[in-house]
Amino acid sequence: MSISKNLQTLSGHIAKAAEKSARDVPDINLIAVSKKQPIERIHEALAAGHRLFGENRVQEAQGRWADLRGKYPDLKLHLIGPLQTNKAKDAVALFDVIETVDREKLARVLAKEMDKQDRHLPCFIQVNTGDEVQKAGIAIAALEEFYQFCIQECGLNIIGLMCIPTADEPAALHFALLKKYANQLGLAHLSMGMSADFEKAIPLGATYIRVGTGVFGAREELRA
Ligand SMILES: *Cc1c(COP(=O)(O)O)cnc(C)c1O
Repeated sequence: MSISKNLQTLSGHIAKAAEKSARDVPDINLIAVSKKQPIERIHEALAAGHRLFGENRVQEAQGRWADLRGKYPDLKLHLIGPLQTNKAKDAVALFDVIETVDREKLARVLAKEMDKQDRHLPCFIQVNTGDEVQKAGIAIAALEEFYQFCIQECGLNIIGLMCIPTADEPAALHFALLKKYANQLGLAHLSMGMSADFEKAIPLGATYIRVGTGVFGAREELRA
């Protein structure tokens, strides 16, 4: 199946979910998650006119996107994977949006890098909605204080919240929680929903959905 076809099919599903929940289609942004995908597929998506992409590793993203950036000035790249502070400099230089701000040290380092590079990128706070040990994201109980820290102490431009639901619970539960917290904090954006569950995230207010396999097919690690 071709990637432009996949993108078309997805926009159809997005439009349908939007209509059902009385939402405007332009408010729902499809992030094509290109991690671990062969570069030809990325070229295909670009040729089809898609411009919004997500990557979860700084190094991998640098390797493929640093050049493409020059060719596609309207490209938007979201970092959706965990960020080590020693990669913050590269991340700020490459990405347009950082979705995974989840601890004080990282918030501080990012803020410093953004000042240095004069690139004040919009950010999301990643929330550990399942309160799982070992999982990325700020704990729910610490969210409000962390948000205040990010905006007041660091001056970060926090535009929304992001989550990855736990595998063993209904995703909608996590989406509803994330929406509730975003409302409480007065944040406009929600990054939630992947290939398997984006149709559930749309009625619950997703403004960014992150779809990988649904756009590109199976990743390298997944293919036999
Ligand atoms: C890989 C990834 C996705 C996309 O997952 P698919 O199931 O392929 O749609 C979305 N969000 C994050 C954070 C990811 O790492």
